[in-house]
Amino acid sequence: MYNKLERNDACWCGSGKKYKVCHFNQDERIKLYKSKGCIVPNRSMIKSTAQINGIRESGKVNIEILDYITDQIQIGMSTGEIDRLIDHKTRELGGIPATLGYDGFPKSVCISINHEVCHGIPSDKVILQDGDILNVDVTTKVNGYYSDSSRMYCLGNVSADRLRLVDAARKAIDVGLEKARAWNFLGDIGQAINDFTRSMGYSVVKEIGGHGVGIEMHEEPYVSYVSKSGTEMLLVPGMVFTIEPMINAGKAGVILNKANGWTISTKDGKDSAQWEVTVLITDSGYEILAY
Ligand SMILES: [Zn+2]
Repeated sequence: MYNKLERNDACWCGSGKKYKVCHFNQDERIKLYKSKGCIVPNRSMIKSTAQINGIRESGKVNIEILDYITDQIQIGMSTGEIDRLIDHKTRELGGIPATLGYDGFPKSVCISINHEVCHGIPSDKVILQDGDILNVDVTTKVNGYYSDSSRMYCLGNVSADRLRLVDAARKAIDVGLEKARAWNFLGDIGQAINDFTRSMGYSVVKEIGGHGVGIEMHEEPYVSYVSKSGTEMLLVPGMVFTIEPMINAGKAGVILNKANGWTISTKDGKDSAQWEVTVLITDSGYEILAY
């Protein structure tokens, strides 16, 4: 599929440039990896300049929403109130909260507290307590483009154990980003994060990972954190995906809340923490689009 175009044809990416001065060399290099048996991205996973600009603008709104909520979150507030603030702020900035209605998800943000791993549903009955750690995961759609990132918040007198976990989850992002460069593999990111997490005495959730993002809320590839270096998909400039390892203080096992059908918690009831970044692979490394 990478050799149908002639060198002087217009490039498949829509840039208007001739193929030979646009994606030709990159496609040839991808073909070489494919011939060696590597998993390579298809063209739909390699964003055009116009698409990257759209996702970047979406990411700016996503970051502004998280910055805004950082100043608002406090002990005694309900997660339902945070949800309403985020919904309102998103629309004020010209975006749409993408989680609302996604597969029937009922709220505009996911908020997961302490032993909750992800997909916590905001509620007026859930009141933030002194010592809580929580993840606020915001997915934003702007002009049709999606961005997705999350941060952790530590409320009041948080225990040393919890602070160490939250800090490790953030460092895991940096460790993953170090491997986020073209012609590495997704498995390089996965193994680096897994090795680091285990060195801290924690475990990484196996069942849920990162994902491509931009044109859809969830795209290929799937980004695992139990993968091996040199395996999984080849990283190519123009790919956009999330890095979002869920780090458990205890064992890796998780359970689904069958009553609400969404919320994932640790099986052993111990704490979990997660940060999430939307990242673009560039010619020289990476660019953070949302964090
Ligand atoms: Zn091109």
